[in-house]
Amino acid sequence: MSNSGAWLTSGSGADPLIILRSDFWGYNSIGIIGSEAACAVDPGVRPVEIVRLRRSLETRRGQRPVSEVVLTHSHHDHIRGWRAFPGARICMPRIAAEKPEEARRRILSSVGAIDGHLGVEVADFVYPQADEAFADSLSFDLGDCPVELRFLPGHSNCTSVVYLPSCKTLLTADYLVMPGLPYCRWEVEPFETALRTMDRWCVEWGVDRIVPAHNAVLEGPAVRTAIAQDLAYFADLREVLSNCLADGAERETAVRRAAKTMGERRGRDVGGRRRQDLDNARRVLRTLEE
Ligand SMILES: [Zn+2]
Repeated sequence: MSNSGAWLTSGSGADPLIILRSDFWGYNSIGIIGSEAACAVDPGVRPVEIVRLRRSLETRRGQRPVSEVVLTHSHHDHIRGWRAFPGARICMPRIAAEKPEEARRRILSSVGAIDGHLGVEVADFVYPQADEAFADSLSFDLGDCPVELRFLPGHSNCTSVVYLPSCKTLLTADYLVMPGLPYCRWEVEPFETALRTMDRWCVEWGVDRIVPAHNAVLEGPAVRTAIAQDLAYFADLREVLSNCLADGAERETAVRRAAKTMGERRGRDVGGRRRQDLDNARRVLRTLEE
C-alpha cells in the first residue's frame, strides 16, 4: 500500500461515503459527499492522505465545497487534519473543544511524536479551534444527506459518533475498532453504556453498516455481533477479576492473570495490542473497588 492510502469505498452511486485507509494504525479517514457540500470526519493521518481526501471530497463526481470538518474526539490521531479544509466549519464535542491546557499539551506532544515517526513535518500545528462545540448533538445537511453528531462518552470523556440516515451508517470513532478487544481509554461503565446505546440505535434506526476509525468496516449482522462481543468482553473480564480477588490474589497479579485469560479467551494473537487487555483489566478493577 502506498503512503497516500487506499480507498475502501469510493462513494460511487448512491453511497455518500468515501473511506481512505492509511497503512498507519489501519486508520480510516472518512468523507461524506452530499449533493451540495461535503464533510470530512477525523481526517488523517499523513498530510498527503489528508490532501487526497480533500481533493476527492471537492471534485469526485462534480464540484462542491467541504462545508464541515467533524472531529469525533480529541485523541491525537483524530485531529491531525483539522486545518486542511479552508472555509469549513470545525465541529466537535464541547468537552473536546474545551480541553484544559495540560491535556492539550499532552495531545500536541503526541501529534509531534507521530510526525517524527512518520517522517513528516507539520508547521505550527495547533490544537483545534471549534466553530461548533456541541453538548449532546448537532445536525447539518450536505444536500440530501443529513449528518447527525451524537455525544457518546466512554472510549474517552469527549467521544462522539456520527449517524448518516441516508445510508443507515454509524461512524463509531474508536468504538468497535477491533471487536472482542474494546479500546477503553477512560471509564468502563460509560463505555458499556455507549455500547448499549449504539445497540439500541442499530435496532431503532436499522443501522446496517458501522465504520470505525480504524480497521474493518462492519456490515449487516456483523454490526450487532461486534457490539455484543464487546459487552461480553467486559462482563467476562469483570467475572474473571472478581474470581481472582476472591482467591486472594494481589491487585496487580489479578490484573495480569485476568488480562492473560482474556487473551486466551480471544483465541487469536493480536500482537502488541494485547496491552489493551491489561489496560481494560485495570479500569474494570477500579470499578470493583469503588
Ligand atoms: Zn481515540
